[in-house]
Amino acid sequence: MARNNARYGREDVEAYDRPRRSTRPRTKDRPTYDDAVDGVVVTVDRGRFTVVVAGRQIWAVKARPLGRKGVVTGDRVRVVGDTSGDDGALARIVEVRERSTVLRRTADDDDPVERVIVAGADQLVVVTALADPEPRHGLIDRALVAAYDAGMAPLLCLTKADLADPETLLSTYRALGVPWVVTRRGADGIDGLGELRERLAGRTSVLLGHSGVGKSTLVNALVPDAGREVGHVNVVTGRGRHTSTSALMLALPGGGGEAGWVIDTPGIRSFGLAHVEPDHLIEAFPDLDEMTEDCPRGCTHGGDEPECGLDEAVARGEADPERVESFRRLLAARSATDY
Ligand code: ZN
Repeated sequence: MARNNARYGREDVEAYDRPRRSTRPRTKDRPTYDDAVDGVVVTVDRGRFTVVVAGRQIWAVKARPLGRKGVVTGDRVRVVGDTSGDDGALARIVEVRERSTVLRRTADDDDPVERVIVAGADQLVVVTALADPEPRHGLIDRALVAAYDAGMAPLLCLTKADLADPETLLSTYRALGVPWVVTRRGADGIDGLGELRERLAGRTSVLLGHSGVGKSTLVNALVPDAGREVGHVNVVTGRGRHTSTSALMLALPGGGGEAGWVIDTPGIRSFGLAHVEPDHLIEAFPDLDEMTEDCPRGCTHGGDEPECGLDEAVARGEADPERVESFRRLLAARSATDY
């Protein structure tokens, strides 16, 4: 996404934002933009933002006062200017609302620069095939770490259950309490979609998964009438079809966003987690967090810590050893290199 923004020339952004200097007295205050309207960013393509305003899709660029502040898929924004959505019409994003969540990643674990991938989503759906390709626990663990760190609820979506029994994989995640749904390929498409739809209803969910796991098939099945829905995959941007690898937010059928949103993430192949702090990760597990109150300063709560409260809680029989073990597996996945 940062790359996409960079491709868009700074001078272009400025050209679109000359806030009424000729008609208003010069003032030190920034314009108040009383006439701004609310919208949600559904995708970013070469510095141009597709924004849904009152159920219709418009195009916008960042206004100058935002400076270098990033605007990403899922951002709730305020826009001014031509919000007609007509051909060639271009509005300006003048404000980014406070983000309820941010899903971040670094390019890899040694990369100090973290990038926000998606804002404002409340659920991270980790799409994994049970076979063909084989599930990779390291990748699942890392996605879970990203979800917990972002304050998003995780959901495992296990596809291709017609090829393998989900139990083996589920046993690994049961102690963490990660909810799951299972889908299988049936004669008339995908079986098990109903339960997934229930889990997605009314929420904003990021779908994460590697090629071959069936994520695209799921997205197409969930948003079947995409041609007429807001935020269609083939959304025509001001410069042609959506071609970027930026996250793409799609309204679930019915209600233009009220029914919930799914956010596809076509461009995400790696998930650097250099930004994740152990103390932040454990906050996603309040029962475990409580047991670390007397940990020595700087304790990472990992298995090699000499005086970690988690070990003491297990020894006292107050903590489920499997749950502690699973948490520590996530902790290790944070810096694993063999995923
Ligand atoms: Zn500890």
